[in-house]
This record gives sequence, C-alpha cells and structure tokens, in this order.
Amino acid sequence: MSGRIKPIRSQAYLESRQIDKQFFNSSAWETTRKIVLNRDCYLCQTCLKNNIVQPANQVDHITPRKALARNKWLDASECQTLCVVCHSAKTIAGG
Ligand SMILES: [Zn+2]
Repeated sequence: MSGRIKPIRSQAYLESRQIDKQFFNSSAWETTRKIVLNRDCYLCQTCLKNNIVQPANQVDHITPRKALARNKWLDASECQTLCVVCHSAKTIAGG
C-alpha cells in the first residue's frame, strides 16, 4: 500500500464548507467587513490591547462564528479587526 490517504469528509462537513464559502463571498459580508475595518481604523485590536499599533485587514468574529447565531454573523459589533498573526493564533486556539 502506498500513496496518500484521502480524508473522508462527511456530507455535513462539506455542506458547512459550502455555507462558509457562500458567506465569505457575499456582498453582505464584504459590507460588514468594511464597516469593521473602518471602525477599527485598520488596526489589529489584539495588538492594540498590548499597546502595539499594527495595521491589519482581517476581520474576525469575536465569538467563534460556529458558536454564534447565524443572524449575528453580519453584526459588526460581533466582529473585530485582527492582523494575520493574531488571527492565526486565535484560529489555532479554537476561534
Ligand atoms: Zn495583532
């Protein structure tokens, strides 16, 4: 036996990936994203708490999106601007 083992994805997983894709490609999300970035002055909010002024352009859901009610996904008050480093760290930590 050789070669890579192909991961088996469940139907539910594929459907949730599809929902994510549609969500992040939506013009509604693009609008929320711009509102959040402008509100936060394109600065990473986590870095800012540590007194570091770090330009950023990623928008993160403060409460992990999976744990957030669907009608809150486009709520700018549920989102924050993060730099790539802080966003990755938060994602790895589970959110
Ligand atoms: Zn940061």
